[in-house]
Amino acid sequence: MFASESPAHFKVFTTFLYTGALTHPNLRPIAASKYYYRFVTELFAFAGYFSAYSFRNALLDAFFTRIASAPDDFPYGSVQDVYDCTDASSSLRNLVVDVVVNTGRKGDIKLWKQYLLTTFLVDCIEGAAEEEKVMFAYGVEEVATQAWLEDKKERLCGDYHVHTREELRAARTEDDMEMDGDGDDGGLDMSDKVKAELSVIEDLQKLRID
Ligand SMILES: [Zn+2]
Repeated sequence: MFASESPAHFKVFTTFLYTGALTHPNLRPIAASKYYYRFVTELFAFAGYFSAYSFRNALLDAFFTRIASAPDDFPYGSVQDVYDCTDASSSLRNLVVDVVVNTGRKGDIKLWKQYLLTTFLVDCIEGAAEEEKVMFAYGVEEVATQAWLEDKKERLCGDYHVHTREELRAARTEDDMEMDGDGDDGGLDMSDKVKAELSVIEDLQKLRID
């Protein structure tokens, strides 16, 4: 069910360029969370290869919107996928940490403890320190969580989006594709076929205005 092969990514991307919509069975609201988040994460890493900032922004929004739609059900099981597909300074990784630092619950962390990466927990601790927050200090505060998520949604554009080529160049080093996996299906090998597809995509992008 995981679309680890790049044709699925290309297809979602080209459809997005034509329609502005993210279209795939794994991206439907009814898709199971683990498929949804994994696929969005893969696509986000994929977008890092191109000057695909409107696509990248849409994926960040989609990822966050899904989280915000079920604040009681943060996808701790998908954190490893995010870490597998992004590097340390990725804005998607940063967003996940930010959400957990600000809305995570002690009980959930306890529940998931054995499945969570140490790197992720350290990132959360550092994130909390930066914000001078005591993580999970106020336990279950649904109203506060909801308010934080709504405020965050307003700030996604300013804090996480890329809107110009210059910003993109800076973000691209951050969102480097680091597709994990068993070697042959991870990442793109730059065959002539892929190069040809890329040049078509770049042409398509010129037609689309963010
Ligand atoms: Zn924006």
